[in-house]
Amino acid sequence: MNLGDDSRTALITGASRGIGRAVALRLARAGHRVGLNYLTHGDEAEELAGAIRTEGGKAFAVGGDVRSRPGVEKMVEATESKLGPIEIMVNNAGIISDGLLIRLKDDAFEQVIQTNLYGTYYCSRIVVPGMVKRRWGRIINISSIVGLRGNAGQTNYAASKGAVNMLTKSLAKELATRNITVNAVAPGYVETATVDGLSQSLKDRILERIPARRFGTPDEIAAVAAFLASEDARYITGAIFRVDGGLGI
Ligand code: NAP
Repeated sequence: MNLGDDSRTALITGASRGIGRAVALRLARAGHRVGLNYLTHGDEAEELAGAIRTEGGKAFAVGGDVRSRPGVEKMVEATESKLGPIEIMVNNAGIISDGLLIRLKDDAFEQVIQTNLYGTYYCSRIVVPGMVKRRWGRIINISSIVGLRGNAGQTNYAASKGAVNMLTKSLAKELATRNITVNAVAPGYVETATVDGLSQSLKDRILERIPARRFGTPDEIAAVAAFLASEDARYITGAIFRVDGGLGI
């Protein structure tokens, strides 16, 4: 790993598993210093930080709950004291809690909105002032194709991701003159614990609807996030990139 002059500090929420883990690895291999946030899987985050350091990179595992403003403040402070000011913020931490609206518990609605939307808001709210001061920044939100198209059984999740898409576009307009870009990656179905847990018959039905006839890999999402973090992507802002094997066509 080459920590050269174009090395930046990145914080990735939910980096202990799945897509967040893959994004962290990509950014570290692109030469960036990475803060790896986790909620419950500290061992996995520590293990990833160790693996990145073994490859010659700089990584730091940091616990913190994105649902809480004080939690995010502490996580940002800890990351910045170890790795320097956050220049790339990847809002990846996200949950589902599915159910048809007529049976949905209020708590399922609230938890999904708190994690997916408030988490993205708090992290952005806390790191953006520093980016504005330094006149450079990248915010990359991991939303979902469901936030563009909706999905039965996911009113809470679709609402949270649709809101993240609009937060992305609005914040992009606010920050475009400051050399800060704000973009979202909207994955389709990706091979993570969530998708692994589906029954084979449901997987088959989903696969029939995906033109590529396969699920995506976390690294295929991470590749787009890493590009958006790069200098080459400086003229791209307010964009929502579907990475879904054609599902959203
Ligand atoms: P995952 O494997 O379930 O991992 C979720 C990650 O988020 C974990 O690292 C978890 O931390 C973290 N997390 C959850 N709640 C948190 C909180 N309150 N504070 C801090 N971290 C928290 O998820 P994934 O499938 O990789 O999904 C990552 C993102 O992609 C999510 O935003 C998801 O909505 C989006 N997405 C996924 C798919 C898909 O097919 N997988 C499709 C479209 C969009 P711990 O493990 O440490 O608790």
